[in-house]
Amino acid sequence: MPYSDQKNATMNIVRKHNIRAQKKYGQNFLTDEGVLDGIVEAAGVCGEDHVVEIGPGLGSLTKKLAEQASHVTAIEIDKQMIPVLEEELAGFDNINVICADVLKTDLKAIADTYPGECVKVVANLPYYITTPIVTGLLESGIHFKSITVMVQTEVAERMQTGPGSKDYGALSLAVQYYSRPEIVLDVPPECFFPMPGVGSSVIRLDLYEKPPVEVKDPAKMFGIIKASFMQRRKTLSNALQNNPDTKIPREKTESILTRMGLDLRVRGEALTLEQFAEFTDLL
Ligand code: SAM
Repeated sequence: MPYSDQKNATMNIVRKHNIRAQKKYGQNFLTDEGVLDGIVEAAGVCGEDHVVEIGPGLGSLTKKLAEQASHVTAIEIDKQMIPVLEEELAGFDNINVICADVLKTDLKAIADTYPGECVKVVANLPYYITTPIVTGLLESGIHFKSITVMVQTEVAERMQTGPGSKDYGALSLAVQYYSRPEIVLDVPPECFFPMPGVGSSVIRLDLYEKPPVEVKDPAKMFGIIKASFMQRRKTLSNALQNNPDTKIPREKTESILTRMGLDLRVRGEALTLEQFAEFTDLL
């Protein structure tokens, strides 16, 4: 379908059902056919896949996913969208719509619904909860093959970057511990209704079978990472001593830094994932 027809199709659904996009739910509906196809292609959706979609909205991406996948489970918080989805997706027998808050949903049970199918997450995410959704998916222990999501461009860059960049932080390290991130598409505001006030990007996270670094206690490492970036302009030794969750005496941090051959005045923002893992194990 050409761009203008798709835009009309989306707007027709909006008018037909008298939809008011709800800001509180981060509703910015995709209207660009090329972007919808681009997301499905980037996710590499195929006939062996069970796709979990977060926030189907008016169902434009859901339809495209269902055309390629074996099954689609779509989780939507907004009750207003349910009759719209029932009508728009009536022709499909491989879509299951669940009306729920994704942050309070048993994703493990959903992922186990179709044994033998490869589980992939695909979504145009509600931007107000991008970080809890992505970290929740990564830390869930569920064997997702990949997570392909539209997020704010700034957040996509944060996920992909390393030490030395102002965008580097706890989210970068969590994403890179569990997956290999790749920004696959930049999407301007004109491709949505209503237009968001920020640029958007599609990022694909290919989950590792085994993390790229070994650390005895990953939860402890993430506690240290969080404390380091809470006061990112402070030295690592000060940040870890001041933080009520870590309270590591400065001398202890300094002795580990010496063993690692690092400057005693180093900031957490200069450490790589490997160095955070080594620091945690030495602690
Ligand atoms: N997938 C549609 C599209 O691309 O046009 C809509 C995407 S819109 C950016 C985000 C969607 O997520 C909305 O439909 C919104 O209602 C839904 N949503 C927001 N918060 C949610 C939550 N906590 N759980 C599930 N869905 C949520």
